[in-house]
Amino acid sequence: MIVIKIGGSEGIDYEAVCGDVAQLVREGQRVVLVHGGSHLTNQVALALGHPPQFVTSPSGYTSRLTDRATLEIFEMVYCGQVNKNIVERLQRRGVNAVGLSGLDGRLWQGTRKSVIKVVENGRTRLIRDNLTGRVEQVNTALLNGLLHSGFVPVLTPPAISYDGEAMNVDGDRAAAATAVALGAAELLILSNVPGLLRHFPDESSLIRHLAADELEHVSQTCAQGRMRIKLLGAQEALQGGVRRVILGDARGERPVLRALDGVGTVISEQ
Ligand code: ADP
Repeated sequence: MIVIKIGGSEGIDYEAVCGDVAQLVREGQRVVLVHGGSHLTNQVALALGHPPQFVTSPSGYTSRLTDRATLEIFEMVYCGQVNKNIVERLQRRGVNAVGLSGLDGRLWQGTRKSVIKVVENGRTRLIRDNLTGRVEQVNTALLNGLLHSGFVPVLTPPAISYDGEAMNVDGDRAAAATAVALGAAELLILSNVPGLLRHFPDESSLIRHLAADELEHVSQTCAQGRMRIKLLGAQEALQGGVRRVILGDARGERPVLRALDGVGTVISEQ
């Protein structure tokens, strides 16, 4: 079983990703796809007059500030346009894809953060009306049911709180939780960079291999912004028993097959 997370940044080649997924499925591989949609969400939010806002936590993680209006725009793009676009591309290739958000069937459940701490201009501030949280439980019965019946699940945030509220969650960490829950051997996290770059944005500084115990250090020294969350997701996946996490490039040809060949940053226990 392979869990593949495709980012939502500019430049990602969904056509190539879906071509690879179709090939893997034809070869008998079980695949679960998780996707983002951040770039398109930013564009739509701007067009709708509700520009995106991002906040940084005291530990340095960046996330989207999610009020109700933002959440609804987020759902339009992630669960609507991006999810259905991927499902359509897979269906065109004969893959029986089913698109679901974390709300559907309580697929991704967790605790909503009642308050978050953010740092602005060096000062810490509390925000209460933020609809975000973290996936703590994955509905494996639903996923395994789909997989056993030959469907390919295509999953996207938001998730659902225990109280039944939609909440934004990080897609990389949700993919990691899904990989752990399903006992996947591999988690691919594909984005618009070749992998983890020692000197971002210098693409020739790609780190080709990392051991799990080096993650903490490189996260502090090399990764900025959203890349730090990918490394956190990688760490959670490995701790949960996933054998290999590969941070790969979703821009060129054969993005999934290349990553499976180890092109990118391969992160494993050793
Ligand atoms: P996606 O939405 O595709 O999942 P993100 O935008 O969340 O991708 O994260 C990938 C981004 O992380 C890259 O586009 C890059 O701007 C940023 N980044 C920060 N530090 C690094 C680094 N050391 N190596 C690679 N990318 C980095």
